[in-house]
Amino acid sequence: MDNLTIIGSGPAGFTAGIYSARALLNPLLVAGTLPGGQLTQTSDIENYPGFPEPEGGFDLMMAFQKQSERFGTRILYDTVTSVKLSNEGPQEIQLAGGDKIQTLALIIATGASPVWLGIESEKRLMAKGVSACATCDGAFYRNLPVVVIGGGDTAMEEAIFLTRFASKVTVVHRRDQLRASKIMADRALHNPKISFEWDSVVEEITGQNEVEGVILRNLKNGVKKNIECKGYFAALGHKPNTEIFKGLLDMDEVGYISLKGQSSYTSIEGVFAAGDCADHVYRQAVTAAGMGCKAAIDAERWLESKHKT
Ligand code: NDP
Repeated sequence: MDNLTIIGSGPAGFTAGIYSARALLNPLLVAGTLPGGQLTQTSDIENYPGFPEPEGGFDLMMAFQKQSERFGTRILYDTVTSVKLSNEGPQEIQLAGGDKIQTLALIIATGASPVWLGIESEKRLMAKGVSACATCDGAFYRNLPVVVIGGGDTAMEEAIFLTRFASKVTVVHRRDQLRASKIMADRALHNPKISFEWDSVVEEITGQNEVEGVILRNLKNGVKKNIECKGYFAALGHKPNTEIFKGLLDMDEVGYISLKGQSSYTSIEGVFAAGDCADHVYRQAVTAAGMGCKAAIDAERWLESKHKT
């Protein structure tokens, strides 16, 4: 029987590992399908406090991992396929490799995944101009043109944010009406640096080693058009990685895990959540790390009160 199992190896998971290992809980961390999480998919991180110089996303996550291993976090390179959760506990975790884990406390830090168009050039130019996070990567496009794909609140927010840096922001939307709230839409529509390509889809992102432009196709008249840009921001929404917990834990309608008040407590005793799987508002590495810390402290206190040995 394990004391504490953490599912997920992004900033939230590893921070939970650091804190709980230092509290001598001997945590087991299941790394999941994308060890290191979303940050391993970006290039330089400039907004993680404590790093005055840009740090590679992959390197930053390796540092998180090393720090959590230094205190004894055990890392398992496997994926969780299903869980059985109950208020009585212990919690049961089935791994893809065949093993089963039983654990007194569980921290879910499975993150969220940006929605992509799924075209080949998006993958090829990932982190070479292709991004799904303006807050993370916007500052790399000072005085350069960028495109934002999508018509929801995220797309408007990203487009408005990007006008601080970019010379021009083009929003590409597949319809002629925005999904975004009126206030956000108005702000974007009235921003002189933002222009719109309506009824349009991206056929391809051009460039070999960096983004050079996008080829758009107008869905109403079939006309193709090339737009020059150095940055491509997918703003098609995010999907929390919480499929395996559906029906077992309280979630909002989109699938983000509901937390009790300011804590990391979920609707099941002994099960805690941290990071993007439970936060659709901030979604930053530093906030995820903070939530991981909270979850480890909550789990430690819960174990102390319920399972004092
Ligand atoms: P949404 O689902 O609201 O919007 C996604 C956008 O992407 C839509 O315009 C959709 O087009 C478009 N899209 C999706 N798939 C494709 C595709 N395959 N090809 C082309 N276009 C596509 O996601 P958001 O992340 O924008 O928002 C999620 C939630 O978070 C919303 O409730 C939103 O209000 C909220 N939010 C609030 C903010 C705020 O208040 N400051 C900021 C950000 C988000 P279509 O419209 O045609 O479906």
